[in-house]
Amino acid sequence: MNKVIKPRSGLEFIEVYDSPQPEAEIILNSNESPYNIPGELISKIEELVENFDFNRYPDPSQFKLKEKIASSSGVDEDMVALGNGGDELLLHTMLAYGGPERAILDFPPTFVVYKLGAAISGTKYKMITRDDQFLIDVNQVLQKTKDENIKIIFICNPNNPTGTLIPKEDIIKLLESTDSLVIVDEAYFHYSNISCQDLLSEQKNLAILRTFSKAFSFAGMRVGYLLACAEVVQNLERVRLPYNVNSFSQALAALVLDNRAFFKETVEKVINDREFLSSELKKTENVKVYPSYANYILFKVSDAQKTWNYLLDQGILVRIFKDDHLLQNCLRVTVGTPEENKMFLKGLREAVL
Ligand code: PMP
Repeated sequence: MNKVIKPRSGLEFIEVYDSPQPEAEIILNSNESPYNIPGELISKIEELVENFDFNRYPDPSQFKLKEKIASSSGVDEDMVALGNGGDELLLHTMLAYGGPERAILDFPPTFVVYKLGAAISGTKYKMITRDDQFLIDVNQVLQKTKDENIKIIFICNPNNPTGTLIPKEDIIKLLESTDSLVIVDEAYFHYSNISCQDLLSEQKNLAILRTFSKAFSFAGMRVGYLLACAEVVQNLERVRLPYNVNSFSQALAALVLDNRAFFKETVEKVINDREFLSSELKKTENVKVYPSYANYILFKVSDAQKTWNYLLDQGILVRIFKDDHLLQNCLRVTVGTPEENKMFLKGLREAVL
């Protein structure tokens, strides 16, 4: 046969995730922590490597890490699901609660993986666009959730890429008026200090997504978790592959959690530097800045492509949103080290003159 079999119908409409990663000296396009894990932990990791059973499969129940996450979050162990990054858990929620004739509700511009997961899992996609301040009108949402097909509502809080925060009262209103699973994506909550976690005990339709990739400097190791009632977690367990999170990542994530005090300092630094960066951006002519509660800032210029190109020529990589009309001429910069932030500001000011 010199012919390749056709894939399932609809696959041609799924776009391959493509976030260009050209070579650059200063990388400020992926909302990572600019700080690697601290030296004290590196020596503990070296010890771990020496005695690690790389030849063995991970524990399929993922017990040790789940137990640590549960105790550090103050929930029961059966309320924790683990994923190969938060991305995988997002897909799991749609594999478990989506599917044909079911829909998700999304609020663009937001994190693209909700829409991608809907496409992969064959779930219908519905949306309400955010207003010009990137906020959500909760009354409009309540109207829409009367649509019985909507089974999952994704609220990214703080929202990636806009940095916006939806007030907790609005989330409570929503939780109380719908049976849909409301997933509050708190990938960046360390930088806002606002969480819906305390609502978990009373709201069975709430799930909270977290990741080790941001505040814990762990993006390369791919560990995320989701907190929800035991019934929801059980359903997510049904759709995950047995060894979805590798054993080394699990062991390292446990080590990171045991030593989470180390990361407090870098999170505080990033918050302070965000405020500095934001106030400097506000002083920059021809730049419109959006308020941010995360470790990145969205801003608007008159020609995003030209600005992006100029910055890249200076060795500075920020995020551009090429085909998203809701983010026309917007760029997103991740808060870097103070030196990186200064280089970025210098480059930007030259670019927008
Ligand atoms: N949610 C949001 C809003 C994100 O921005 C990200 C990372 N870009 C994730 C979830 C998933 O992160 P990870 O897969 O690295 O855990």
